[in-house]
Amino acid sequence: MVTAVNEVNFREKWVRPARRVVVKVGSGVLTRDNGLDVRLIGRLVREISNLKKQGREIILVSSGAIASGFKKVALGEKPQTIQAKQACAAVGQASLIMAYEKAFERRGFQVAQILLTADDLSNRRRYLNARNTLTTLLEWGIIPIINENDTVVVAEIKFGDNDTLAGMITSLVEGDLLINLTDIDGLYDRDPRLDPEARFISLVPSIGPKIEAMASAIPGFLGAGGMSTKVAAARRLARRGVPTIVANGKKAGILERILEGRPEGTLFLPRTKPLSQRKHWIAFTAKSRGRIVVDDGAKQALLKRGKSLLPSGVIRVVDSFNVGDSVRVEDKKGRLVAVGLANYSSAELHRILGCQTCDIEQFLGYKHSDEVIHRDNMVVGSDLKI
Ligand code: GLU
Repeated sequence: MVTAVNEVNFREKWVRPARRVVVKVGSGVLTRDNGLDVRLIGRLVREISNLKKQGREIILVSSGAIASGFKKVALGEKPQTIQAKQACAAVGQASLIMAYEKAFERRGFQVAQILLTADDLSNRRRYLNARNTLTTLLEWGIIPIINENDTVVVAEIKFGDNDTLAGMITSLVEGDLLINLTDIDGLYDRDPRLDPEARFISLVPSIGPKIEAMASAIPGFLGAGGMSTKVAAARRLARRGVPTIVANGKKAGILERILEGRPEGTLFLPRTKPLSQRKHWIAFTAKSRGRIVVDDGAKQALLKRGKSLLPSGVIRVVDSFNVGDSVRVEDKKGRLVAVGLANYSSAELHRILGCQTCDIEQFLGYKHSDEVIHRDNMVVGSDLKI
């Protein structure tokens, strides 16, 4: 039972002390009819500068490139094709970063532009490179401003939306809190723009199907995501032990009020027993390249006894993957059991599936390891869906 008193306590515990904060700003917040809302950017920048002066580190994930670009090139309607969106983003990104740079410069802060793709973060080496760059920028007191690199991505290699990107970045920088600013006050049980009876939800202790169903009923207007992607990002981040607040970025003073611990927006609490950064990357950032179907014995060994996956428990291999790729482990009914990094390629696995560990060498002529997926490179659970 959540009472007003323990809600205050949660904000005191999870929000007020947050030192490294990722702030995501949606297109709906940043744009008005005639393009970028420069006054609003100025106001956000003032708030972020004040937070910096309190000793907090801020990483911005900002949308708004497509929306700003399409107004600049004077397209009559929202771009429909992926190429038109990419071209608009290329135009709009320049204005977006310039607006931030000017506003931050006036307050004595420098910014850095970082454009990323889902493929970049799925690659462990690039992920670590991005982490090193971001950490260096933060050490230097510079504010990183991140957006998806829209020019080079098509639908199947996109993050999908900046909510997903912001969640991944929060884990990558070891952030204490994600503040996701949108154009409504937070989560409601129904779409408040359509139903005046909609009830506001200020605290979500844990994200299950009921909360996800509420979110899916609240689409976004201008941005890509809507409430669903915000809640999904909060769910994944909760597994990392990090809370999320979804709040109204149009409201003056919102960032400062949130970090004072005031009751603004919806607070999604983190889960206990957080995943390490590496395991969280395996579960939610590395893109799965294939699937391994296991028998019931192996399923129980993974879920209940904390074991590694051995070839004897593998029934079937789907799609092709290489050594080191992320793969999904499923039971016979197609339910997700785990996600992990494979020690054998799909071609090798076809030859050793079902065999005893001691026979691997006989079938392959060599043996990389006893396990198909080692426990240390695996995360179990059925809620690992992106
Ligand atoms: N990268 C897109 C942009 O800057 C936005 C994607 C999103 O809003 O989630 O316009």
